[in-house]
Amino acid sequence: MNPAFSLRNGALHAEAVDLRMIAERFSTPTYVYSRQAITSNFHAYRDAFSRIQPLICYAVKANSNLAILALLASEGAGFDIVSGGELLRVIAAGGDPGRVIFSGVGKREEEIELALSHGILCFNVESEPELDRINTIALRRRQRAPITFRINPDVDPKTHPYISTGLKSNKFGVAWHDAERLYRRAAAMPGIQVRGIECHIGSQITELAPFADAMARLLDLVDRLEAAGISLEHIDVGGGRGISYNGESLVPMSEFADALIAQLGSRPYRLLLEPGRSIVGDAGLLLTRVEYVKRGETKNFAIVDAAMNDLIRPTLYGAHHGVLPVVPREGEALDCDVVGPVCESGDWLARERSLVVAEGDLLAILDAGAYAMTMASNYNTRTRPAEVLVDGDSVHLIRERERFEDLIAHERVAG
Ligand SMILES: *Cc1c(COP(=O)(O)O)cnc(C)c1O
Repeated sequence: MNPAFSLRNGALHAEAVDLRMIAERFSTPTYVYSRQAITSNFHAYRDAFSRIQPLICYAVKANSNLAILALLASEGAGFDIVSGGELLRVIAAGGDPGRVIFSGVGKREEEIELALSHGILCFNVESEPELDRINTIALRRRQRAPITFRINPDVDPKTHPYISTGLKSNKFGVAWHDAERLYRRAAAMPGIQVRGIECHIGSQITELAPFADAMARLLDLVDRLEAAGISLEHIDVGGGRGISYNGESLVPMSEFADALIAQLGSRPYRLLLEPGRSIVGDAGLLLTRVEYVKRGETKNFAIVDAAMNDLIRPTLYGAHHGVLPVVPREGEALDCDVVGPVCESGDWLARERSLVVAEGDLLAILDAGAYAMTMASNYNTRTRPAEVLVDGDSVHLIRERERFEDLIAHERVAG
């Protein structure tokens, strides 16, 4: 658990705030984030890489709340986006479009127009037809579009198949073998300005080797491009550093940074990083209340007021999230699954846990700061949770709980 969350006087706190107080004031389920945890995670990158002054482009899709984007913008972060909507969020939060990189395999014309009109740092191009489309639009606008190619280095990040992205069989990036040809083509295009090279091999990676392998593949290519007269400004090694959901040990940040810096050697390129999960993942929890304790014939259930629509990672990836009672109580532990009210057997948040629980208790689902609220839905006509940001002893409501009226606002009864 991130040290910003701790047990104080018998109750779980976020920084100096008692989670019971948050439940009373904002009800449940509610996402609770720690400002201190987010900034210290960001500083860990900044400090470990300080010798080479990288640009750290936070991956907006991990958690795109405006307050979190504004906080990271104030720390000097750039942003990695995957849609026009995410660009508008960065701008709404006061982020600098000149520090935005645009990833994603399916960029639409209007999204490319939008990004060009705001002068983003570069497009991370994922296919040859995309290169042609960006060139055409840039020429129409009498601009040169800055680009990198996202290279698929074909390395195995040894993570869940749904979150590995750098294998030949994945839809992401251009093939390593084809990259030199594409760079030559791009360098000759009047609407394109080649800026750099990028890869992003997957997420929740705990070891160093996949990153080092990917970096080696990129540098090999970069050196060949340089020899061919195509010079780059930056090398972007993507995101993907894992967090410890269930006691996994991680390559320490200093070792990770030292290895990449050593590989870069004396080459003059600026380094870019695209971390998402490792900035916000352990900086948030989902606060929920037990509605019922149901004892079954073969299984017991703690039925809580949060569900798969609020946090889909367990059922989508089989992900493990720690569960802690907000006020630990004495008594006999119950072997149970923690499930929500949604009408799906896949609606579970934690399985086979041993918890001392009673109706009305508050539980904290840990490490729910990344790919949690951004993946929430309204399935079963459930309003999405409130979000709060704790800063010392103060609590800021950074997203109101949705109301039923919000859910039906865009619907029309025909006729
Ligand atoms: C999702 C994504 C990231 C962030 O990945 P994390 O595992 O959250 O660090 C970075 N870059 C790209 C291109 C992505 O799609």
